[in-house]
Amino acid sequence: LGKLVTPNVFMVGYTNCDYSGLRAYLEYTGQEDFMRSVQAAKEEGLSDGEILCSFYAKLCYKSLVLGKNSNVKRVRDIPDNVRSILDTAHGSVLEHAAVNFIVTDCSRVFTHEQVRHRQGVAYSQTSGRYCRLDSIEFVWDDLLEPVRGLAVDAIASAEKTVYLMECRLGLRKPPYGASPDDIPAAVSPAFRAPVEIAGMLWPLRGGMSPDEVVFLTRVYRADSGGYWQGSEADAAALRAMCRWVPDDKFNFEKRKQLTSLIRRFAPNGQANEIGVSLNLRALRHIVQVRTARHSEREIRNVYGQVYNLVKARFPLIFCDAREKMYDGMLEISGMKTQPYEIAAGDPRALEYFDVSALESEIARRRAT
Ligand SMILES: Cc1cc2nc3c(=O)[nH]c(=O)nc-3n(C[C@H](O)[C@H](O)[C@H](O)COP(=O)(O)OP(=O)(O)OC[C@H]3O[C@@H](n4cnc5c(N)ncnc54)[C@H](O)[C@@H]3O)c2cc1C
Repeated sequence: LGKLVTPNVFMVGYTNCDYSGLRAYLEYTGQEDFMRSVQAAKEEGLSDGEILCSFYAKLCYKSLVLGKNSNVKRVRDIPDNVRSILDTAHGSVLEHAAVNFIVTDCSRVFTHEQVRHRQGVAYSQTSGRYCRLDSIEFVWDDLLEPVRGLAVDAIASAEKTVYLMECRLGLRKPPYGASPDDIPAAVSPAFRAPVEIAGMLWPLRGGMSPDEVVFLTRVYRADSGGYWQGSEADAAALRAMCRWVPDDKFNFEKRKQLTSLIRRFAPNGQANEIGVSLNLRALRHIVQVRTARHSEREIRNVYGQVYNLVKARFPLIFCDAREKMYDGMLEISGMKTQPYEIAAGDPRALEYFDVSALESEIARRRAT
């Protein structure tokens, strides 16, 4: 039986800045002073991704340095500018930087939910068409502990089904090595007892036909102590009976087709992997939606890990997030992702809602 596993997230890449290219552009356009802001931001620990987002935001208003736009009377430093981007939800500039993850030991339940996110994301997932299910590792959650026995039985049954299908469809060599090479040319008196032959035929085709039982009873007569009693012709018949025939199914296309069909019998909880790359705008949206208490526990777990990994390297990108533990997992809220939203705790909320509307909203949230 395969292992019980839980998902793990690894950050494997993120956008970097080519500072020689940036400097060349700034010199070309007479904005070299911006490099001082870049230097200060780096000393504060900002990531290249955050610096690039700020660069593109400032580009919009010709506010990289003073003197390029007479409407601009002062320029913000980069951290301040990033906070302002988040505060106003000027989200498109956050699309310039991306982060790359690999999520391993995650279920097909998770990957199906993940790929519903279409904007600003890229995916590469374990191919169920190419990859054979030699053993099924299963994504576990401790809430299932009271039904562990049932779960283990279900996984074992799925594994057995897949295994037998592979044997019978010619994809996998059955046990006892019942291939033409494994059957001796001349059958020795003690060659394979009936029980062993029955075991050999089970994965090949589910057992023996009545004719085969009669045949085996004759060639292994009990009154001779269960030793072989057959002729050379019987030996040839036995070899034909036990032969595992991979035949034409062993060309690559056929193997792929069968592998893909057999995966229908594997559970949704089978462990697999997905590579996910997200730009910072999509990341903020998805972290918030998928760590919410109403989301599925596995995706909450994954995005809790994503949040911590990103926060450790991008100090500002979640600076407006509210962190809370709910049901033992991180719940991230309060980030503004669209200009028309009101950030959590924004005093301007009073301009938009009257007091009774706010009170009923508070009451609704307390009730959930
Ligand atoms: C708690 C929870 C329960 C759910 N239950 C169900 C369910 O029962 N059934 C079900 O089918 N799904 C369900 N979903 C999935 C959900 O409906 C979305 O498909 C999924 O969350 C992807 O989010 P998104 O639409 O924001 O997509 P993203 O690709 O992440 O898009 C980001 C944003 O871009 C904009 N956008 C994206 N695509 C378009 C578009 N084509 N046109 C206009 N604007 C666009 C939207 O503003 C969107 O919010 C659930 C999700 C959650 C979090």
